[in-house]
Amino acid sequence: MSRLDLFIARMVSQRACLNHAAQLTASIAGPVFELGLGNGRTYHHMCSILPPRDIHVFERAVASHPDSTPPEDRVLLGDVFDTLPQALAQFGATARLIHADLGGHNAQKNDVFARKVSPLIAPLLAPDGLMVSSDRMYFEDLEELPLPADAVPGRCFIYRR
Ligand code: SAM
Repeated sequence: MSRLDLFIARMVSQRACLNHAAQLTASIAGPVFELGLGNGRTYHHMCSILPPRDIHVFERAVASHPDSTPPEDRVLLGDVFDTLPQALAQFGATARLIHADLGGHNAQKNDVFARKVSPLIAPLLAPDGLMVSSDRMYFEDLEELPLPADAVPGRCFIYRR
């Protein structure tokens, strides 16, 4: 696959998995967490399929497109290794959906990061809550779900508590 192919596959898979996860968790009332705002493309899409005020964004430095910038009271600013434990104290195990797109261009570094951050993410999910990630995660107590038909295997992952 070319880098362009990989990029397109990631975008298509993010949209497909977020749509799928929003449907599967429709009966859960808890908050939604977006880990890694970046340009805000996935945040903007999530606002179109989920209640925008339910979405809390974790980002160390907000630099998103003006149309995709969350309200200040919905941003947990800082390193996720600090803000995820703070969120657990604030919200407990209530999250309906957690989406993570925290990685960069180095697949090996992304994998090391995923191993370190997984134990901080799992306790935030409500029973039957879903986690959608662009990187494979390392959860002891979450089940990996099949992808929707329009997602590309290996470009996105879905886990359920
Ligand atoms: N999904 C976004 C979009 O559609 O525009 C792109 C996210 S971008 C690939 C990754 C983002 O994660 C960056 O904005 C980066 O600052 C953030 N990030 C990476 N590591 C982080 C960390 N340890 N704590 C907080 N934010 C982090």
